[in-house]
Amino acid sequence: MSEEKSDAGNDPRLGLLLEGIIKLAAGDLDARIEVSDARDEIDAVIMGTNLLAEDLQIIYAELEERVAARTKQLHEAHREMQHMAMTDSLTGLNNRSAFTSALTDAQERARNGGQRPAILLLDMNGFKGINDSLGHTIGDQVLEIVAQRISGAVREEDMVARMGGDEFAVLLRDVTPAIANSIGNRVLAAVDGIMEIEGHHLRCGASMGLRMAQPEQTAQVLMMEADIAMYESKAEGRGRLKVFKQEMLHARQLRNQLVSELKEAITGSQLVLFYQPIIRLDTRGIEGVEALVRWNHPTRGMVMPDEFIPIAEETGMISELGTWVLRTAVEQLQQWRSDPLTAHHDFNMRINVSAADLQRLEFVEDVRDALSSAGLDPSQLVLELTESAVIQGNDLDRYTLKALERLGVGMEIDDFGTGYSSIDYLRRLPVHAVKVDRSLLSALGSDPSQPALLAAVLQLIRACGLGAVWEGIETEDQAEYLLSIGCTSGQGYFFSRPLPEAQLTEQLRHHKAWPVRD
Ligand code: C2E
Ligand code: CA
Ligand code: CA
Repeated sequence: MSEEKSDAGNDPRLGLLLEGIIKLAAGDLDARIEVSDARDEIDAVIMGTNLLAEDLQIIYAELEERVAARTKQLHEAHREMQHMAMTDSLTGLNNRSAFTSALTDAQERARNGGQRPAILLLDMNGFKGINDSLGHTIGDQVLEIVAQRISGAVREEDMVARMGGDEFAVLLRDVTPAIANSIGNRVLAAVDGIMEIEGHHLRCGASMGLRMAQPEQTAQVLMMEADIAMYESKAEGRGRLKVFKQEMLHARQLRNQLVSELKEAITGSQLVLFYQPIIRLDTRGIEGVEALVRWNHPTRGMVMPDEFIPIAEETGMISELGTWVLRTAVEQLQQWRSDPLTAHHDFNMRINVSAADLQRLEFVEDVRDALSSAGLDPSQLVLELTESAVIQGNDLDRYTLKALERLGVGMEIDDFGTGYSSIDYLRRLPVHAVKVDRSLLSALGSDPSQPALLAAVLQLIRACGLGAVWEGIETEDQAEYLLSIGCTSGQGYFFSRPLPEAQLTEQLRHHKAWPVRD
């Protein structure tokens, strides 16, 4: 027994077995231990160990395969997430962050000797109207079609992105200004075509800005400048491509300054009203005054409304401005009516109302309040509305106009003859008169066919059952001519320029007929 034991103890196979087990334990699963011819117990252990190694190898291989598969899935999920983070879900185009990073890359390459990139920024013109009137489902389809059209109009190597809302951008990686221009125009032409969606034939042009990159500019600055050029295109309103110019930046800065100053002006009582009389052409007596706002600017002096009303409208400040005009004008009329020296003139107040006012639900309340706190009858106020303000007529406009009609204030279409409104449409509005634009009168005297045109316009207005005030009367001849064809009311420099309150008060006290002759 002891001999056997010692025999087994000296068996060289035990050394091999130990060596093999150590190798396997170290991870070398290919290691195998040789089996001897003895086929004894030791060989049985060796064979068992080899089998175990075999099994381990199989399990290990399977495990490796599974790890590889999982890793691949993870990679794909990651790519998907990255794609989603970089893609606009509605159109499938790149989104703003993808665009920004591609632009940054392109600028980097340009600095290392590559071509300068250019960007086109494009904003739809009539999209909000389509979305509001036909709903978001159709709005979305419009955006999808626009996305396809832009993609179809650019080159393979250009990158198209949706920046948000109805704004798109194209990164042109390698272009001269001339090529950038022609691609831009091709995109504009493609976008402009009629689209047929659910039986609607829609057309939705775009405004576009182009900016050629300068070497050291960041993506943010480039996009801001493309935006300024696009804004210029939008302001011009003709769907034309605008190339960024340094002057545009200065104009924008000036405008921004004007915006913040105008805020101050409205709250800090820098606004003043001038009043221009409206005159009965036969008696030359006053029948109304139009309140015209001016901005008494601390350093620039009197700023005229054409310069700041459009800004007030764009920035939403117009409602605050309009409310101030309404209150001030109504109070002023009350003062003239209660002053014993001016009360013998019977005239009403006219104020200019902007399109944004008709969109405000509280506007009717504001008018009612202003009148009642001044103790005036609604018939003593006339609102002048431009054709463009009432012609886009949506539900809110119609609601406001109806409510104002019920309240009993007068309403007049301003700048009549400059718009393209259908007479039939105007006839159905609750207005009682039109204010004929001064351009119709200014050609009188120079254009021999103008008298016939004026007479025809007058007939048309009468046929609609409306009254008319003729604006821009600058000479005695014009006043006489209008009276001779049967016009009743007029306004213009011939009778009086718009006057500050004190000056008009003075004239009301001492004069009966216009023009005032001292
Ligand atoms: P509008 O309503 O057509 O006002 C008439 C404009 O023609 C006034 O210019 C007036 O000074 C000018 N005008 C009057 N008679 C004559 C004339 O015989 N010849 C010539 N060449 N011009 C004459 P103004 O005061 O510069 O106002 C310009 C525009 O600004 C107004 O046009 C009106 O659309 C807008 N506006 C003025 N005040 C307000 C306001 O309080 N609110 C709003 N929303 N708009 C206003
Ligand atoms: Ca007016
Ligand atoms: Ca006018």
